[in-house]
Amino acid sequence: MIIDTGWNREECITALNAGLRELDVDLTKTDLFITHLHADHIGLAQKLATDTSKVYFNKPEADWIVSGGQWHDFIEYARVSGFPESELQTILQSNPGTTYRSQGLFDFTILEEHDTLSAGEYRFECVATPGHTFGHMCLYEPTKKMFVSGDHILKDITPTIQLWSDWRNPLKEYQASLDKVYEFDIELVLPGHRSIFKNCKERIQELKHHHQKRSEEILFILEEGSRDAFEVASRMSWDIDCDSWDLFPVFQKWFATGEAIAHLRFLEEQGRVRREIRDKNIVYSLI
Ligand SMILES: [Zn+2]
Repeated sequence: MIIDTGWNREECITALNAGLRELDVDLTKTDLFITHLHADHIGLAQKLATDTSKVYFNKPEADWIVSGGQWHDFIEYARVSGFPESELQTILQSNPGTTYRSQGLFDFTILEEHDTLSAGEYRFECVATPGHTFGHMCLYEPTKKMFVSGDHILKDITPTIQLWSDWRNPLKEYQASLDKVYEFDIELVLPGHRSIFKNCKERIQELKHHHQKRSEEILFILEEGSRDAFEVASRMSWDIDCDSWDLFPVFQKWFATGEAIAHLRFLEEQGRVRREIRDKNIVYSLI
């Protein structure tokens, strides 16, 4: 079984095929498990799947992909969140999430929470972990105390939690998913990016603390007055090698604004921030 695939681009399939050859993997005897819909995880699924492969995936995101996604709704939400029009055009034309996605629809095999998957000597349990994306799913191997975390828990970087609509609270979902995984007996985490790690509970506490600090920072920013999400993002502190917000690459501004919206939504539901429409734009202020 292959878990997640990488982008649908030439460099990725070349590297992956070299690795699969080294491991002597027969793709006709191989299934795929996809943790979530991001193109760096599902991008090569169609190229790797053979007639005899199953592509395991969660239902909410399978439905979303089959329905064609709502990318244009995200763009519209970014527009009313203060994202500059010229930069939105760049996002529309060269977004890697759409450029390197898997082409065509799939015949997915849907997995639900608590379903089990056997592969060789491993017997995985499915753990729904919405937050990073709305249908994100991890795998837990209770005998080996191993946890395949996708982009739910990463060691060296913080998983991005973004929102581009009014109808979810992904940061709340994410924290609930962190609390859920905290109860598992885990010795080794296999994440979707960067290094594998131990000390899962410690990392979960760090991530929760990080989001608490970010919320406090946003409340501090709103003390200056009402702001749209783009303005809030431009005033937040970011760990990036740029001298000013204006010099951020446009996709970093996109991630930053989406993360600011997720925090603002979280604070709104806590009753600490008010969301209003002013001149067709969404503006936030302290309550
Ligand atoms: Zn992701």
